[in-house]
Formats: sequence, structure tokens, C-alpha cells
Amino acid sequence: MSSVAVVQSVAEAALPEPSKRRTVAHKFGGTSVADAERYRHVAKLLLARDEDVQITVVSAMKGVTDALIDLATLAGTELDWRDRWHELRARHRGAAVALLGESVGQTIEWLEGRFDHLAEILSALSVIGELPREVLDRVQGLGEVYSARLLGDYLSSLGEDCAVLDAREVLVVDRTDLGVDVDWELSAARLAEWRAANPSRRVVVTGFVARDRAGHITTLGRNGSDYSGAIFAALFDASELHIWTDVDGVLSADPRVVPEAVQLESLSYDEACELAYFGAKVVHPQTMSPAIERKLPIIIRNTFQPEHPGTRITSNSEAVGPVKGLTLSPDLAVVNLEGTGLIGVPGTAERVFSALRQARVSVVMISQGSSEHSICCVVKAADAVRARATLMSAFAHELSVGQIQRVQLTDDVCVLAAVGDGMAGSPGVAARLFESLGRAQVNILAIAQGSSERNISVAIAGADATKALRAAHAGFWLSPQTFSVGVIGPGNVGAALLDQLQAAQPQLLGKANLDLRLRAIASRSRMLLEGRDISGSWRERFQSAREPLDLDRFTDHLLSSHLPHAVIVDCSASPEVAERYAQWLAAGIHVVTPNKQAGAGPLARYQAIAEAAAGSGARFRYEATVGAGLPVITTLRDLVDTGDTVTSIEGIFSGTLAWLFNKFDGSVPFSQLVAQARGMGYTEPDPRDDLSGTDVARKLVILGREAGLGLSLEDVQVESLVPESLRQASVEDFMTRLDEVDAEFAQRLAQARQAGHVLRYVARLDEGGKASVGLVELPDTHAFANLRLTDNIVQFTTRRYCSNPLIVQGPGAGPEVTAAGVFADLLRVAAGQGARL
Ligand code: ADP
Ligand code: ASP
Ligand code: MG
Repeated sequence: MSSVAVVQSVAEAALPEPSKRRTVAHKFGGTSVADAERYRHVAKLLLARDEDVQITVVSAMKGVTDALIDLATLAGTELDWRDRWHELRARHRGAAVALLGESVGQTIEWLEGRFDHLAEILSALSVIGELPREVLDRVQGLGEVYSARLLGDYLSSLGEDCAVLDAREVLVVDRTDLGVDVDWELSAARLAEWRAANPSRRVVVTGFVARDRAGHITTLGRNGSDYSGAIFAALFDASELHIWTDVDGVLSADPRVVPEAVQLESLSYDEACELAYFGAKVVHPQTMSPAIERKLPIIIRNTFQPEHPGTRITSNSEAVGPVKGLTLSPDLAVVNLEGTGLIGVPGTAERVFSALRQARVSVVMISQGSSEHSICCVVKAADAVRARATLMSAFAHELSVGQIQRVQLTDDVCVLAAVGDGMAGSPGVAARLFESLGRAQVNILAIAQGSSERNISVAIAGADATKALRAAHAGFWLSPQTFSVGVIGPGNVGAALLDQLQAAQPQLLGKANLDLRLRAIASRSRMLLEGRDISGSWRERFQSAREPLDLDRFTDHLLSSHLPHAVIVDCSASPEVAERYAQWLAAGIHVVTPNKQAGAGPLARYQAIAEAAAGSGARFRYEATVGAGLPVITTLRDLVDTGDTVTSIEGIFSGTLAWLFNKFDGSVPFSQLVAQARGMGYTEPDPRDDLSGTDVARKLVILGREAGLGLSLEDVQVESLVPESLRQASVEDFMTRLDEVDAEFAQRLAQARQAGHVLRYVARLDEGGKASVGLVELPDTHAFANLRLTDNIVQFTTRRYCSNPLIVQGPGAGPEVTAAGVFADLLRVAAGQGARL
């Protein structure tokens, strides 16, 4: 009796009857077998399981397939491959020694033999100076051969009954245009033969590799070990296939692009196929076919977290939402055939496809408008030029007579696909996808929806890929709406805003699924740019910022994150910053500001800003420029948007002036009241900025423009309370000489009182566009005569609110409330982009 037969009978005796045996197949990817430590972990994981027969398909160690391809390429181009070969050999020897210790002898000897053989092949390649396809196929699969042996020898060294199966001995495949087909009959027969000689309870199988019918060594294509897993699960008649990798299963999107991607508990085969086909690297597209035929459940799970249940892929579809996952396929191009000669001509599409097929160009996606004016195909970037040339020659006649105008090629394209069984018959999915992309300023080149309604694909520019995936992911509520936020001017209002923003962040994220990432702060001279977000105390972080201010870099930084949305909050009072708004808005960056420079500055600039916003869809909001946190502009907008006509706007727009005239009853001279107000911080450092009326006039201009008038500051008649003689004086001088005005103010007050009136500094705009700001007498019953100390008031008289005007009133100054007004604008922008506020 041979020793093999003895092993066989012992093994057979330990197992249940063949018909009752439970067989489970596992596949470990390169990420799970990076080094000796990981092999040990894999072995432990396998030994902890209780199936009767255990089939384990392994990939090459992480990075080894790439290394082998590099080696072959180097040799084929006559470059030096020796160093890299030594490295690769050392890595495998090292792993073997670390795993097997004393008993490594035979394994090392075997490895030496394999690597010597590899060196022979590489030397031969160097001599011929090229890399034939068959040789590449042979070399690139060697990593799996080494890897299976390492795991198998290790399991055996632990006393396990384990055999290593080199798939090249049993698996026979056909490589076709559509991929790799298995010759099931031949493969099963060869496996039965092998199994008869190797009936061990555990079998370790090389992934990725196979042989074609002619007996040449080949592979199942990159990432093909998943497919090997499914093939051997079928050949061994396993009841389940576990694909072990380095993530918790299939996620709603590639986690390297969308860190918020969520794990999916279950997928149907169809969903998994679509996801895999369109680039979810976690499963190989062909993996599904052997599984589907046998209704074999596939479980994708994490080697590093074996207790996690992973994602179950079965024939059942559990539609939890319309879209389960999103994928990106990179490196594509769009070829567009366009011309009036295509309209109504039968068979054009067929001619396009047969031409492409003859040129062996595979078409990833097609789209044809019902006008039939153009046909658009998405093809692999590597095939693009060939595809175009083929179509040009296939339609040479039509091109020459002008029936087809052009065959256009757009490079650097990728396809974003949304996948889910739940999409079938559920309206609005496409709308939501397009809306998310539109809001993120992503232009769509072509659209296709399969009639299975399980997939909507859009071709977009490669440069937009990351941003688009994130925007779409957020759009389907799979992750928060994320904004890249930059704040300019951390002064009084800016600082208060930053504090409010940081304090509200957790709640916004938790409740509203809104992620406002503060990524940049700039002052007049410096700026702080941060990759993810400025966490911790923004004050401390900004204090140590040294980078000089550069608004171009600031802008690029906000956009560079590939976050779906960017917003700049300008809390400066600078006209130079306002000068940038139009450019920012045109680039799709939203702008929120309490800075009056844009709203009240040159009309041409204001119009350019409005046009830029209308063109790109980015929002420009400046509620806090009038009445701080009070909803003045929002109210006015609502009136106008709902079709009301504003006939007049009147109000007290300055908290400082409100306070001064509320207090001014003759008991204290006017100049002393100004000094008191200044002492309490109610005025600007130079009180003339308040007393001149310019600030009030600016607010009136803003409201006038919002009401639809082409108003400018020059059109406003302004009564300055600063006498001519004091306009040039220094601030100190002004304060000491202000008593020069007391007599005149006292007289105006006395005059008003005689008529039972009070004095108020009022802004007015009437229907004809006549605008004025200045001191007026009002009856003491008037609404403006009965305000709390620093309150602002705005009164809108409109067609609807004609006998009784609409009034907005309340505290209209102070950093906290102004910042709150700015923050509210920011949230309105977010809501406009789909945040659930
Ligand atoms: P393995 O070596 O185990 O085969 P791969 O690197 O081939 O691992 O595939 C796993 C990787 O696929 C993950 O680390 C993840 O970054 C990436 N990936 C891309 N899309 C998805 C997705 N939708 N779900 C999960 N992982 C994905
Ligand atoms: N090692 C092969 C590759 O990197 C096969 C696989 O890992 O699935 O493509
Ligand atoms: Mg893989």
C-alpha cells in the first residue's frame, strides 16, 4: 500500500458520507495575504470553521502580480530585471521562513526551483527583446502558485490534512471577446482524477491561473481569483462561497473615493453583476455566473474583521432603496457620430456596432437620442483612436457627401453608474441623480438606462469623477451633503460665525446629514488651508497660520477637495474680496456674506455677480447686510417672487442712529449721547461712519436692487449728520468739537416737539425710485417712534400689503446676531443643494 493510499483512508474515515458532506469554498484576496503574519491569520480563521470539506482559493501576495508583470515587461524591453527578481524571491523566502521556521527546508527548496525557472524565462525574454502574450500569461500567474504553496505547507505543518491544487492542472478555459469561459466537463473530469489522488479535507487552490484548450497557461484576467473562487466552489459542489477581502463587504461606493460609503447587507446577483461590471473592484464581474447557475450564495467579508457578517449575494433582492450602490469606471472615451443623414435611416446603429466589433472595440455604453441625429458610444480609452478611425472609414461615404458631419472623440471620460433592483418602476431616480450632479456642477456627456431599469449610467469628464461620485452618493442619502467651506475675515462677525459653525457641526451632521467642512480661513494678510477640515479650536489653529494671503490659492484649495459643493463666506468689508464674487460664482462656488460692497457697490459689478450666479446655479446670499440676523431680504424676496409689487420701503436701518434718537429728548446734549454710544461700543470706531448716513444709504440700495430697481449709491439723497467743518478732522478732534452741533440739534428737536413729533433717522424708497436717507419728524404714534433702543425696523408697502404695511423689526446689530444671519444663509444654501434641514 502506498503512503498516499494510507492518508486517503484515514481522511475518508474522518469525514461524513460523501452525500452528507458540507463543502464551503473560500477565496482570499491579495489584501488578505500580504505577509507571513496574514497567512497565519488566514490559517487561524480557516481552522476555526466547521465545514467538512474546505476549499480555499488564494491570490498572490499583495502586489506580487504587479511585480511579476513589471519583471516580464522589464525583461521584454531588455532592461535589468535582476534586482526586482531578487527582491521578489527574498519576499517569498522571508514569508516561508517566518511561517515555517525550522521545517521550512522543503518549501525553500521548492521556491528556489520556481524562482530559478522564472529567471530562465526572464533571461530568454531579454534575449528576444519582446514580451509575447503567452509568456506574460505564464509569468503573471506565478504569484498564485507561490502563495498557494505557502498557505498549504503552513496548514500541513500545523498537522492539518491539506493538499495544494495547482489550478493549471485541472482548470480548462476558453478566452473569448466576452471574457473567459470554463470548459466545465473537461475541468470536472480532471478534478475528479486529481481528487481521487488527493482526497484531503482541506484543499488550497491557486486563484487566477488556468490552461486553455491548447494546453497553454493562461489567466482569468486581473482580479480573476474571485472568478476562480466561484469556479472551484462549483467544481467542488460547495454550498457557499466566502470571498475574504479587506473591507466589510460590498459598499455603496468605492470607499477610497467616498469615505462615507455604507456597507450593504445583501445584494441580488443582478445588482452585484451590475456593480462589478461597472467597476466595484470588490468582486470580479464573472464571479457571479457559476454562482447564479447553481444558486450559490456569495458572501463578501472582511479578513480583518471575521465576526462581521459581510454582504450576502443571492438570488433574492431586498430593495431597501431605489439605489444600492454607485460605481465609477475610469479610462474611457466618448465617440460621437453626428449628422442629419442618420435621421430615419434604418440600420445605422447596427453598422456602427459591427464596425466597432470588427475592430475589436468593446462598447461600454451607448446612447442615441430619438431624433436619431447622433449616436454616441462610450469605449475604453485605449480603443478610442481605433474606434474613431474605424467609424470614419465605415461611414466614409456619408462623411464625404455630408450626410454625417463628424465623428467626434472626447477623451478622459468615466462612467458613473447607479445600481439597484429597487429602481425598476420607481420614478424620480434619474431625476435625483441628475439633480445631484447638476448641483455639483458636473456636466453629463451621455446617459443610458438599461431596460432592466437596474442601472442608470452617465458618462462624465474624468476630472469630475470624484466630485460626481460623492455628490451622487449624498444625493441618494447614502452619505451627508458635504460642503467645502472657506471663511474670509475672522473679525467680530467672522469669529462669531466660526464659533457658531464649530458648535453646530455635530448636530448638523447627526440630524440634518449635512457636513460643513471648514477647510480654509483667511484674514487680510494670512490664511490657513487644511486638507480635510480645521478641527479643534479654529482660533488656535489660525493664530499659528503663517501662509501669506493668496486668494487664488485659497479658491483652488476649496475646489481641490472634490467635495460636491464649495462655499465662501466673506465676513470682510473689503471691496477687493467682493471683486472676486462673480468669478467664484461662475466657478460654481456659493457666496454668503454680510459685506455690503457687492450689494451696494457699483451696479455693473452687482449685475455681473447676479449673472454669474444665474449662469452657474451657484447661490449668492447676503441677508446679513441689512438688519443683521433679521429676515429682511428673505422677506422682500418672497414678496417679489410671489408676484407682489413693492410700492415703498421705509425704515430705520442703523442701530446706532436708532439708539441716539430714541435717547435724544433734550435732557442730554446730542454730542454727549454720541460719546456715550461710542463708549458702549454701539458706534463704529469713527462715529462719523454712522452719522454720515452712508451705511444706511448702502442698505437702502441693497433693498432697492432686491426689489428690482437699478439703484446706485449716487441715486440716494443722503443727509449727513456730520457738519462740513468736521469731516476732515481726526477722530479725537471730531469728538471734542462735536458740541458745535448741539445747538442745531436742540433746535430741531424743539421744533419737532411743538408739533407733537419726534426725530428719527429714516431711509425711504418710493415707487418711482426716489431714494433718500435723513432726519425726519414723525408723529409720536408712528411705528418708528416706538422702537426699543437699538432695534431696526423695515416696513414694506406693497400691492398686497397696501393699507397695513408688512413690518420686520428687531435687534439689527451686534456680531452674534449678524453671524447668525450669515449662518442662516449658509444653511439655506445647503438646503438648496438638497440637505434635509
Ligand atoms: P482583494 O485583494 O481582496 O481581491 P481588491 O483590492 O481586489 O481586494 O478589492 C477590494 C477593494 O475594492 C477594497 O479595498 C475597496 O477599496 C475596493 N472597492 C471598490 N469599490 C468597492 C465597493 N463598492 N465596495 C467595496 N469595496 C470596493
Ligand atoms: N493576483 C491577481 C491580480 O492581482 C488575481 C487576483 O488577485 O484576483 O489581478
Ligand atoms: Mg480583487
